[in-house]
Amino acid sequence: MTEFPVEPYRIKSIERIRKVSRSDRERLIKEARFNIFKIRAEDIYIDFLTDSGTSAMSDSQWAGLLTGDESYAGCRNYFHFEETARSITGFKYIIPVHQGRAAEHMMFSTLIKPGDKIPSNNHFDTTRANIEYCGAEAADLVIAEGKSPSVDHPFKGNIDTDILEDFIKVNGPENIPFGMLTITNNSGGGQPVSLENIKKTSEILRGHGIPFILDACRYAENCYFIKQREKGQSNRSVKDIAREVFSYADGCTMSAKKDGLANIGGFIGTNDNGLHEKVTNAMILVEGFRTYGGLAGRDLEAVARGLEEALDEDYLAHRVNQIKSFGDLLIDAGIPIVTPTGGHAVFVDATALLPEFPREHYPGWALSVALYREGGIRGCEIGGIVFGKKGKDGREVYPPLELVRLAVPRRVYTESHFRYAASTFKKIAENKSVVRGLKIAYEPKYLRHFTVEFDEL
Ligand SMILES: *Cc1c(COP(=O)(O)O)cnc(C)c1O
Repeated sequence: MTEFPVEPYRIKSIERIRKVSRSDRERLIKEARFNIFKIRAEDIYIDFLTDSGTSAMSDSQWAGLLTGDESYAGCRNYFHFEETARSITGFKYIIPVHQGRAAEHMMFSTLIKPGDKIPSNNHFDTTRANIEYCGAEAADLVIAEGKSPSVDHPFKGNIDTDILEDFIKVNGPENIPFGMLTITNNSGGGQPVSLENIKKTSEILRGHGIPFILDACRYAENCYFIKQREKGQSNRSVKDIAREVFSYADGCTMSAKKDGLANIGGFIGTNDNGLHEKVTNAMILVEGFRTYGGLAGRDLEAVARGLEEALDEDYLAHRVNQIKSFGDLLIDAGIPIVTPTGGHAVFVDATALLPEFPREHYPGWALSVALYREGGIRGCEIGGIVFGKKGKDGREVYPPLELVRLAVPRRVYTESHFRYAASTFKKIAENKSVVRGLKIAYEPKYLRHFTVEFDEL
């Protein structure tokens, strides 16, 4: 058990949470048709659904809200936002959007033609969906170690650069409008990508004239891992590492709901005049004018301040070690997790915890239902429902891993919350019959986890 890291902040505002009774939880999850997205947040005790937009803002960010300039065009907060994002990424153009998927949609609908192929380490679910929506194929080329929950590797988010080379040869660079890397690799367990791998990916893609786009949502956590784990990086500042990381890319999509420490916001970064022109023109129809992109002036200010705070190395050290010690609490309770722990979440390996449980009854999802019923905790399946697909023969094809992600909101929970979560898991592990199989009763075409409904077997 690692020594629990001390928060480099103190609490001056709190939000009441409460645990609804066991019988109410039983009823509520049933009424939600066993979809934890349909439960009211007020009926959740500890919410590990996502670390996205759930951060506690600092006093400086809250104060910044009052300085919002709500002019339609050219508000002062936009310039602060632009200057901050540019000082980190070095990109010539910074285009605000209301969140990460809007950045994806605006960029992809400009660059992709039907039939294109987009390689990445692992595409995040909204990234994949936005690519597929444009009629293209999203390919996951993470290294073999990244697919194995228990293999130790400092950078399990790395892309397999040999497979990337082959992929370009087989598909032809003309059919690859850009290549991507997700840092950290959310769907692969929040695992970091090494500086060396980012550089090599850039060389390969640019060598074929293919632009390189970073899905940069958790770039600060990724750069902190580089500083900790990569040879020759320990004496650099995280911001300096970030500058180098972004220098290898031609653009980025960013959700400020992650390493922007804000509750809403995001941006596109690019050096490409043509892309900037096309995106900002298309944006006026859906996101708004180029100096606000679907955000209020005050939101732009909160993001600008949050982007700076997320690079504070005391904060990052606490953040990454908090995740690690949460993982250690679960390991001590006998719960199999993806190791080493990543930057923003602990991933419980549902297949290892429930080896007898049939894949077609969705063990990851079933475990997330049990977690709510037994402890009022909300986690998110990253497995058969999120990434499962109907194959050509109409049968479900399952992804390699069946995980439950416990994403940790930034600056929100303390050690006792994690202890409670670990003890709830321990109870489930000691009585596995509380995890019951599920059968899909309804599913939509895209991003089915948000609205899927089940019958419990
Ligand atoms: C959250 C996330 C997105 C999408 O961002 P939103 O702000 O939720 O729309 C894209 N990629 C990754 C890796 C993410 O974690």
